Amino acid sequence: MSEKRQQQLDEFITRRGLRRTPQRQKIIDAIFVSDEHFTAEELYERVRKSDSKISRATVYRSLTLFVEAGLLREIDLGGDRTHYDPNFDDKPGHGHIICVDCGKVIEFSDEELSQMEDGIVLKHGFKPLRSTLRIEAKCDALRKSGMCPDLIKARMAKKLPIRS
Ligand SMILES: [Zn+2]
Ligand SMILES: [Zn+2]
Repeated sequence: MSEKRQQQLDEFITRRGLRRTPQRQKIIDAIFVSDEHFTAEELYERVRKSDSKISRATVYRSLTLFVEAGLLREIDLGGDRTHYDPNFDDKPGHGHIICVDCGKVIEFSDEELSQMEDGIVLKHGFKPLRSTLRIEAKCDALRKSGMCPDLIKARMAKKLPIRS
């Protein structure tokens, strides 16, 4: 994880008078090894590989903390589970295109779109702070062949309901 992020976390922990625990550090390391979006449960599974004694409650509590610290953002990728996005530091204001069937997610950024959004917000007398757009779509394979690749596997991995 980047120095800047570590600093952000350290500052937050100090400001809140929290303790710097090895467990918390393990969780943060597990989050930033990849740029994938994840659910709390997925993170718990990931962290358990490096520390089998870590509790679900610790992972969930830390997630709330990291969101407050601005290291992570909660996003809505559809389904009934909250996803967490570790990429807003590198790509502020990015949006997500999500396949309605297999749940595949693509990130995108568009300067023109952001300016347009800001314009709309300002027109309504508000000051834009942040936004993330979610577009539901058909992935390339679904569009072309009517079937997503490895559909069942993908939906199982994302814990989406399997449709018949
Ligand atoms: Zn994202
Ligand atoms: Zn798909």
